[in-house]
Amino acid sequence: MSSPVLDRFLRYVRYDTQSDEKSTTTPSTPGQLVFQRDLVAELRALGLDDAGLDDHGYVMATVPATTTKPSVPVIGFIAHVDTSPEMSGALVTPIVHEGYDGRDLVLPDDPSAILRLADTPALAAQIGHDIVTASGATLLGADDKAGVAEIVTAAEYLVAHPEIAHGAVRLAFTPDEEIGRGANHFDVDRFGCRCAYTLDGGSRGEVESESFSADAITLVFHGFNTHPGYAKGRMINAIKLAADFIHRLPPDLAPEATDGYQGFVHPYVQQSGVDRTSIKLIVRDFQTEGLAGKEALVERLARETLAGYPGARVDMTIEEQYRNMRTVLDGHPEVVACAHEAVRRCGLAVVTRAIRGGTDGSRLSFMGLPTPNLFAGEHNFHSRLEWVSRQDMEKAVDVIVALCRVWEERTPL
Ligand SMILES: [Zn+2]
Repeated sequence: MSSPVLDRFLRYVRYDTQSDEKSTTTPSTPGQLVFQRDLVAELRALGLDDAGLDDHGYVMATVPATTTKPSVPVIGFIAHVDTSPEMSGALVTPIVHEGYDGRDLVLPDDPSAILRLADTPALAAQIGHDIVTASGATLLGADDKAGVAEIVTAAEYLVAHPEIAHGAVRLAFTPDEEIGRGANHFDVDRFGCRCAYTLDGGSRGEVESESFSADAITLVFHGFNTHPGYAKGRMINAIKLAADFIHRLPPDLAPEATDGYQGFVHPYVQQSGVDRTSIKLIVRDFQTEGLAGKEALVERLARETLAGYPGARVDMTIEEQYRNMRTVLDGHPEVVACAHEAVRRCGLAVVTRAIRGGTDGSRLSFMGLPTPNLFAGEHNFHSRLEWVSRQDMEKAVDVIVALCRVWEERTPL
């Protein structure tokens, strides 16, 4: 059975679009540009004449309005083209496991890579569906090529069905989301939308309108180095200061001990030397005000650490990363309400979930473009066990089309 969204997806995952946080170029890797150029050609072939690639590697295009109402807002759909640096995205070989019946899906290139129903509760909702995985050696890239394929397929459908009344619909395909730079060069004015939806979520029916608020902290412990043979009473070992500090962090405030609406403090990189040891931490909380409390705790623990090491010093710098998009979306309740209505119209139950992370939508919302996140069917992100089902991708296409209709219908004549 032919499935335009599946066919597109299988084509897209063969492009190696892995992003690279060590790169200083935009986009960070040339493979993303190769894919973006081909996307522009595909969009133009579908009749989206204004499809284009800008100097920063962002693709934008428009499905022109069909409505006769003059004031239907322009809405946008966004997906990212890059894949995670954490796992190879080169030479991805997608496999379609048709008619999933709960069996183990063994991936041929790595006998230890087995997708099992017992370890993967979300598979229980996929009985009878066609599951797509990679071959075991790479990630699949459903994050977020499922979103790209869904948006392009919905655009194709809208172009083929001019009898569906909708306002102008804008599409954007962005680079470098996985390295946190996806919103950096996003031209919100040029996009020109009242609001947008990223297609970059998990299970059927999910609408995500909350994310973490996020800061990064760098602590630098300064000790004093001297020849260890003659160090008595003089040396101050910054490595020991750092270890002492880490030991003081409350274990119940760690990523490995928290879920749901709990925030955390997470040391993730340390550069060690006797004279100077730096620790990078991330701080996460759903309440932006909650970040300050966690940061004060880190500062207090760092100072308490110093007490045992006369002569030592510590510097602490805090950097804002992103903020809970809910702060913005609460001011535009119609944006999420229309998404809920579209999901229900497609016969799905709405699942609201707070993202324990950030999306490009978190940053875009604060740049003036309210942007919640919709399901794209992605599972096991950044893993060789990543998978998506054909049926979920088809539902996501239906939701995009329904959302365009809902916005039109809700606009008065
Ligand atoms: Zn993603």
